Amino acid sequence: LATSGDSIRRRFLDFYASRGHKVLPSASLVPDDPTVLLTIAGMLQFKPIFLGRYLYLVPREVPCATTSQRCIRTNDVENVGRTARHHTFFEMLGNFSFGDYFKKEAIKWAWELTTSEFGLPANRLWVSVYEDDDEAFAIWHDQVGVPAERIKRMGEEDNFWTSGVTGPCGPCSEIYYDFYPERGHSDADLGDDIRFIEFYNLVFMQYNKRDDGSLEPLKQKNIDTGLGLERLARILQKVPNNYETDLIYPIIEKASELANVSYAFADDPTKLKLKIIGDHMRAIVYLLSDGVVPSNIGRGYVVRRLIRRAVRTGRKMELHLAYRAKMPFFCMTRTGFPVEITMEVADERGVSIDMKGFDVEMENQRRQSQAAHNAVKLSVGNGADLTENVPDTEFLGYDTLSTRAVVEG
Ligand code: ATP
Ligand code: MG
Ligand code: MG
Ligand code: MG
Repeated sequence: LATSGDSIRRRFLDFYASRGHKVLPSASLVPDDPTVLLTIAGMLQFKPIFLGRYLYLVPREVPCATTSQRCIRTNDVENVGRTARHHTFFEMLGNFSFGDYFKKEAIKWAWELTTSEFGLPANRLWVSVYEDDDEAFAIWHDQVGVPAERIKRMGEEDNFWTSGVTGPCGPCSEIYYDFYPERGHSDADLGDDIRFIEFYNLVFMQYNKRDDGSLEPLKQKNIDTGLGLERLARILQKVPNNYETDLIYPIIEKASELANVSYAFADDPTKLKLKIIGDHMRAIVYLLSDGVVPSNIGRGYVVRRLIRRAVRTGRKMELHLAYRAKMPFFCMTRTGFPVEITMEVADERGVSIDMKGFDVEMENQRRQSQAAHNAVKLSVGNGADLTENVPDTEFLGYDTLSTRAVVEG
């Protein structure tokens, strides 16, 4: 079964599309919302709809939708690489109901998606519910069949979701994957992030949080969910952390190559640096492509900080030296761009060129082509060199273009 990041995204969207959801595109990382700096969750583009204001791109006729939303969470920047599951940039897969289906369907579909579609063993799944949400507890227990010892009631911090200080919110229920089911139930703690990973959050959006902190019931009950693509990829690809999934690892591999290290044999501090680079590069590229430019305020400052940290981390691995040497060399050998002109351009822009590194690469290249040349020395069975005893050939191309003419001639 296909478990690449791309396939997981496709399978999630198809699953909900075949259950009546309209597949909509991700919104920009720059939200159309003054209460948040960057898009932190899939629900953000639907906030006006949840609040009952149908001003937005989703027409009233769309009762439910599904998306893969690009997200940035700067509050997780310190967790990057230190936990196996947090990124600054990640993709949140989501299914949304705008006053259409509610708790029962959301829970049943989430279970079917994880156990049938993605095949996760039911006995490795734990769920959390908001402390007084007896209804959610009963659906998980009586209708889905999750044993009571694997349903945890949790408090406001974990299981009451709000997108900001104000706005739509509600109790939520999360699905966790257990990497060590043999450890039993008695003292299991879902906060133990070696044993468990939270990957799917179902929010029962039924209130609007007002400025004074009070909860106003919404006219209609909504569903907002978020499933971390990198987290599900990590589980399905059976790798030790999100960074080693096909969604991030190619960046780490490239950075390792440039820094002349091997991720597999690297020590933990080096691995951490490579993870930071893998994480921040994705965030930087997506922020820039959504039009955020580095500056000293707001969103611009977020991208500037990420660029600085990625660059600093790279410099600590001397990645810039390896990169510079490979870059004057790359220009010349692959594109035929002469090294003198590269030097001239670099000089005009106040950038230095690593000529020592260039010479080393040049020498390597010379040795390799010499070796290749030796390897293809032409000889026949008895060891005689084929190039011996071959008479000089005459070039006929000035007078004729046809190969037939040469043969005939
Ligand atoms: P955690 O407790 O692990 O920090 P969360 O409870 O803050 O996660 P939610 O706000 O519930 O996360 O977001 C919904 C889903 O998005 C999570 O269940 C998870 O799969 C994913 N997710 C959240 N934050 C991150 C992150 N920083 N990096 C990668 N995935 C994330
Ligand atoms: Mg979090
Ligand atoms: Mg959580
Ligand atoms: Mg959560």
